[in-house]
Amino acid sequence: MAYYTKTVNEYARFRAQVSREEAQEFVERELKCPECGFIVAAAFSDATGHFKIKCQKCKSISVLNFAYFRRQKLRHKH
Ligand SMILES: [Zn+2]
Repeated sequence: MAYYTKTVNEYARFRAQVSREEAQEFVERELKCPECGFIVAAAFSDATGHFKIKCQKCKSISVLNFAYFRRQKLRHKH
């Protein structure tokens, strides 16, 4: 069981590392709690679909659609 857990952790760490490297080319966007404005997470510009967040400050749970955040596009720099 211990071996299995270690393997899973290593795989999760590997995926996290690859994800972080991929994300470097994307624009990062802060997701704020609609109730209190506290920054609850960060989404990258390729994010799609819905995301459930729990605010650490006011404890409210919100569902955000990334499509509404992608609309606020930053001007492209070439
Ligand atoms: Zn909040």
